[in-house]
Order: sequence, then structure tokens, then C-alpha cells
Amino acid sequence: MTVAMTLIRDSFCSYCGTAYVAPLRYPRTCAGCKTTVWANPIPVSVVLVPVRSGGRTGLLVVRRAIEPGKGRLALAGGFLEEQETWAEGGVREVREEAGTTVDPATLTAFWFTSTEPRPNRVLLFSVAAPIDADALGTFTPNDETSERGLVFGPGGLEEVFAFPLHAEAARRFFAERDITGDQAYAACH
Ligand SMILES: [Zn+2]
Repeated sequence: MTVAMTLIRDSFCSYCGTAYVAPLRYPRTCAGCKTTVWANPIPVSVVLVPVRSGGRTGLLVVRRAIEPGKGRLALAGGFLEEQETWAEGGVREVREEAGTTVDPATLTAFWFTSTEPRPNRVLLFSVAAPIDADALGTFTPNDETSERGLVFGPGGLEEVFAFPLHAEAARRFFAERDITGDQAYAACH
């Protein structure tokens, strides 16, 4: 018997150690102990934080310092830890990525959608209570984000955003509030 040396997740049963039989698809059932494993789509909590600045309301964004989408803008968000609700995980990501503290109790569900073309993530977009720009907190560039700022309108979001579905969520936010015009990104240090 030959064993492929390429590192592939779930190539052996984690219950009894038996190698799975190719082709490796999910769900896969162990030939030894008959246990089945799945690879379910993973939820991602993404938070739209409205920020009042100079008589306008923008959305908080970060500039990504890592791939995918390195150098482009994104809403703050990420995977949930095991013990977190979507709201708790969302505000943790806002704090880690943007340095801004948001009360999870102020988040309201806004829109959810699956990624395309692989629906292996489910994006859970929520909207926070509006804050003032002077309440953004201290931002320190880190391994994941190089800059923090605001976008103020739907125009041209797809050219500056890393992820089309984040741009779509932002467009929906501005459309609901009848906010038009260019995205007009401005960094907030
Ligand atoms: Zn097994």
C-alpha cells in the first residue's frame, strides 16, 4: 500500500486512523469504524460600523495587509471562536482589526449570503449603532491591517474593496439611507 505524502486534511480517520479511500469527497465515511465526517460551510461575522464624521456618515473599513486582497479595503470581520456568538465574534474582529470598541448588544442583523462560486463560507453582515469619529479609538497598524478609514458612498467600491460581497453589503447600507456619491475613502489615524 502506498500513502500519498501530500498534506491533505482528513486523509485519515481521526477516530481510528484508517486511511480514507479515494476519491476524497465530503461527507466521507471511514471504511474501518464507519464514522462519517463533514466539511460544512463556515460562518463569517462581518460588521458595518456607521461613523459620523464632518456632517456625513461613513462606514468603517480597514486596509488589508495580508492576502487575499492585500492592499485593498474590507469591512471588519472574521471567523468565530468556539465560545462566541456572531455578535461577540464580530465586535472582537472590529477591535482587533480597527482598534474600535463596539457593544455587541447594539448589532442588528443586516444581510446574510453564501460565498461564490464555492459556497464554503456564509457571510453574516450586521450593522452597529452609529458612533462618532472621535470614538474610533486608537489604531495601531498590525499584521492583518495597515490602515483604518471610512468610505462615504457606493460609487467605485468594487475598485477599492477586496471582496465583492463586502462591497455589495456596503452598497445595500448606503441605498437604504439614500446615500449616493463616490466612496471617497479617507484614512482615520
Ligand atoms: Zn475510522
